[in-house]
Amino acid sequence: MAPHLSYWEKVNFYRSDVIIIGSGIVGLNAAIAIKKQQPNISVTVLERGFLPSGASTKNAGFACFGSISELIEQEKICGTDGLHTLVKKRWLGLQKLRSLVGDAKLELQINGGFELFKKEDESLTAECVSKIGHYNHLIKDITNETDVFDTSTEKLDSFGFGNISCLISNKLEGQLDPGKMIKALVEIVASLGVSILNSCEVTAFEEKEREQVVFTSQGNFSTKKLLFCTNAFANQLLPQLSLKPGRGQVIITKPIDNLRWKGTFHYDKGYYYFRNVGNRVLLGGGRNLDFFTEETHQFGETPLVQNTLLRLLKEVILPETSFEIEQKWSGIMAFGPSLSPIIEEVSPNVFCAVRCNGMGIAIGSQTGQEAAELVLKGL
Ligand SMILES: Cc1cc2nc3c(=O)[nH]c(=O)nc-3n(C[C@H](O)[C@H](O)[C@H](O)COP(=O)(O)OP(=O)(O)OC[C@H]3O[C@@H](n4cnc5c(N)ncnc54)[C@H](O)[C@@H]3O)c2cc1C
Repeated sequence: MAPHLSYWEKVNFYRSDVIIIGSGIVGLNAAIAIKKQQPNISVTVLERGFLPSGASTKNAGFACFGSISELIEQEKICGTDGLHTLVKKRWLGLQKLRSLVGDAKLELQINGGFELFKKEDESLTAECVSKIGHYNHLIKDITNETDVFDTSTEKLDSFGFGNISCLISNKLEGQLDPGKMIKALVEIVASLGVSILNSCEVTAFEEKEREQVVFTSQGNFSTKKLLFCTNAFANQLLPQLSLKPGRGQVIITKPIDNLRWKGTFHYDKGYYYFRNVGNRVLLGGGRNLDFFTEETHQFGETPLVQNTLLRLLKEVILPETSFEIEQKWSGIMAFGPSLSPIIEEVSPNVFCAVRCNGMGIAIGSQTGQEAAELVLKGL
């Protein structure tokens, strides 16, 4: 136990019915779902960072459900029915997040999404264009909209991109502010009576007298049910889970006068993504340049990825506009052999909801909700 604790501190902060580890989008949504269903259950969230320190406040804020080239790749993995289920989860997840938090608090804007195709990628372009009808048909009953995807190549002149021959648009794709999203979720969590304890790293756990003892940098906690929402860091304490970390590096420019486009953009099969943030440009990606180095739990930037992002800005995204970089950062995602998250009881009274890959904004709320239901079953 941490030294100098009072009786009151021990009783009120160090014991609760459910302890959730991780205050990203999944952990916060799990806490909200538990308290909404069972208000009398006590819930504490333990977060190692001063702020959430994984992906949820470091991402690009795309409210998306898959570009055409990504859907083609994903359909190969899970089949047409599997892809329909997956897109439905993403779509419903986004609606759930919007109704929970509200569009204004998310700073959500549906400016549309676009996939860019390089001049030299003729066969990929032709394949993606030929699949527009197929995917519009597949997602029609999910979105209740026709012609969600369309070619928008006529916009290329006004957007001013370099070396791009084709654009496919998605009229339903949106963008939000991930910082505002987490801030709003923290407010909801607090209003439901959940404590979030920051700077509290969980280092181990064990079962003792039918309770879970949780060892942390701030002393030992105890709980009936323990839920890991630690995403890319989950296998540091649960090594049996099938997931790998993947770092995403991001840069943002200073404001640019007369930025010529708005929206979310996917490039090179989704390995690069960029958007406007007001009149700045945010650009991320490039993990595919060196998968080995980027398979890490360490935050940071590498010259290889940073130089490639800069070149992309200069040659493709802003070829006719001068810009300055304001800031760079990275976040850590979790990937695995399946596109679905892992939501399961890993050992008696110990649960996990992890591995939202690059789509946590879309599937994070539902993943938290499903984990909450699993945890509540036994309480
Ligand atoms: C650069 C980047 C861009 C992205 N862009 C998008 C996008 O545009 N759209 C989209 O949908 N998704 C995007 N994603 C993915 C999305 O951000 C994630 O899928 C999502 O945030 C995962 O949420 P989470 O709650 O599972 O995990 P996290 O947000 O990673 O939360 C896990 C938390 O657990 C905490 N933790 C870990 N270990 C411990 C421990 N031992 N003790 C205590 N606390 C611990 C961490 O500090 C962290 O706060 C992006 C990710 C990155 C990195």
